[in-house]
Amino acid sequence: MSVTVDRSQIENLVRQAIRQADAASSNGSMAPQSSSVAPLGWVDGKPNLRVSISARHCHLTDEHVEILFGAGSVLEPDKDLYQDGFYAAKQTVMVVGPRKRMLPNVRVLGPTRPFSQLELAFTDSISLGIDAPVRHSGKIEGTPGCVLVGPAGSVQLDQGVIRAARHVHMNDHDANFYGVANGDMMQLVVKSNDCSITFDDVLVRADKAAKLEVHIDTDEGNACNLDAASEVLLQKMPDACACGH
Ligand SMILES: [Zn+2]
Repeated sequence: MSVTVDRSQIENLVRQAIRQADAASSNGSMAPQSSSVAPLGWVDGKPNLRVSISARHCHLTDEHVEILFGAGSVLEPDKDLYQDGFYAAKQTVMVVGPRKRMLPNVRVLGPTRPFSQLELAFTDSISLGIDAPVRHSGKIEGTPGCVLVGPAGSVQLDQGVIRAARHVHMNDHDANFYGVANGDMMQLVVKSNDCSITFDDVLVRADKAAKLEVHIDTDEGNACNLDAASEVLLQKMPDACACGH
């Protein structure tokens, strides 16, 4: 109570508080914090682990967007995803499997890609009657196909139906923090009442522009009741050693 603060000190404190509030309100990613810029997605000086359930969705080529939604059509962003530059589009497609089983309203994610790909959880692939293998995004050689139907037309995919393998997006700062590199495998521990699960084989996908985020599918998320999880923990695979095996 007896501490006296002069006017210039007060002004400094106020300026500092305003700067911090500005940084917080702009999500911290673009705002300078003291003299250096905080790594993308970090909060309070450390990685901010996010675990997201990636529901069934598809990626389309520009050509397929025009066939499905009409000549000149482009994907219309509806909702931004956590990863900058990626979005859920307004457009959806109907997926038709063998024996005419179908999944209506499968969300298209943007931006477009050089190849079209349908990502399902195991339960989805059972409903559709397609035996989709677990694959990492883009590794679609030899995978089953399906038919995509849009308001303006349909596309026969000869391949590209997969169950997306679990993975974690991160930038170089996150990778340094965890002591891992692109292509390494990590372990995700989800503590949940009566259904905790440890997921092995979480592939590191490091990219300068990425924010730390684990992607699992709906079956994996439901199995550990992710929405009600009390704790999530990302760590190196326990048997990882310096020799790389
Ligand atoms: Zn992902």
